[in-house]
Amino acid sequence: MYAEQWNEYRKRLLMFWSMWLGGIPLVAGVGILLSQVLPGNLVERIFPAIAGAWMLAFAAAGIRLTYWRCPRCRRFFFQRGMFVNQLGRRCLHCRLKKWGDE
Ligand SMILES: [Zn+2]
Repeated sequence: MYAEQWNEYRKRLLMFWSMWLGGIPLVAGVGILLSQVLPGNLVERIFPAIAGAWMLAFAAAGIRLTYWRCPRCRRFFFQRGMFVNQLGRRCLHCRLKKWGDE
């Protein structure tokens, strides 16, 4: 019933984990690669921008995950008022179970 919405959630979750686990080796790899082809002082100036871009992308993925809307009540599944629980197993508003379809 909510397959499409759960698919969207799965994409956001995958993006979040990819950014988190894949981001550090990716940024480090780019840094190492740049240090091979560019002078050191230039790398020192460029690298913070690359790391900053990754942090922004990671933050965006986290925000997209947190502000995912419940398929049933259309309110934020993991956030209620000041309370946020991205690991919650139920919607904080209507109590719909994660991956549930009723
Ligand atoms: Zn709900």
